[in-house]
Amino acid sequence: MEIVTRFAPSPTGYLHLGHAFSALTAWRRARQAGGRFLLRLEDIDPGRCRPEFSTAILDDLAWLGLDWDGEVRVQSAHLPDYRTVLDGLAARGLVYPCFCTRAKIAREVAESAAAPHGPDGAPLYPGTCRRLPEAVRAARLAAGEEHALRLDMVRALAVVPGPLDYEEEGKGSVACNPARFGDVVLARKDAPASYHLCVTHDDALQGVTLVTRGEDLKPATDVHRLLQALMGWPVPHYAHHALLTDATGQRLAKRDRAETLRQMRAAGMTPAELRARLGAAGA
Ligand code: GLU
Repeated sequence: MEIVTRFAPSPTGYLHLGHAFSALTAWRRARQAGGRFLLRLEDIDPGRCRPEFSTAILDDLAWLGLDWDGEVRVQSAHLPDYRTVLDGLAARGLVYPCFCTRAKIAREVAESAAAPHGPDGAPLYPGTCRRLPEAVRAARLAAGEEHALRLDMVRALAVVPGPLDYEEEGKGSVACNPARFGDVVLARKDAPASYHLCVTHDDALQGVTLVTRGEDLKPATDVHRLLQALMGWPVPHYAHHALLTDATGQRLAKRDRAETLRQMRAAGMTPAELRARLGAAGA
């Protein structure tokens, strides 16, 4: 089977060394196997993504010596695709509109005696809008009230067959437990579709066979696996890699003001030097 990998950054900032590592890992895996390497811009969040970062990402990757196959898929240009999936899930009664504000959710969580928490440490959504009487829900929708769309986790798990797992490269089968995420948001009030939905849809649509990405996203794979089962999408293999850390052991992330590829370029670093800094991944 042909191997298809991808690098799927969100253009919310400039690429840093950690991104270069991820991109090179995916690119190398495809090229070594004579497969395809795809580039996708996950710019679904209008509040955080900026076109100038998209342009800079393509430029930085080309500077690094990476080439990609076919057109770059830009998620914001494909909103009807995600809407179709959401409509399908809604028709099956697997998503529901959630009108809650963050403040309301925080209040309800604070008032509840035992609020369960998700993998990221945040309290799970208490299910307020899942329990709305149908007439109330319909009236609020008819009034045009802003809402997110949440997956009804209990119903979703009830319609997929048996326990879910996926293949983690070099480690074997990983059992999934999407229930620990509760009723995840699949479309936000301020963004037409969520990361979980778009990434899973696009990996399936684009025929990605091996998802390489940082291990910070490993827990989310449980949700992705559930969406694959619900939609009948193929299940790629996964290879979650350790995150790069700086000299003090801090994770490199955009929000930590990590040094960007741009800054390294401006300081005179060559692509070869940068790849050498990444060790085996850059070799
Ligand atoms: N767009 C995601 C990010 O930049 C990564 C998506 C993925 O590799 O699954 O964090």
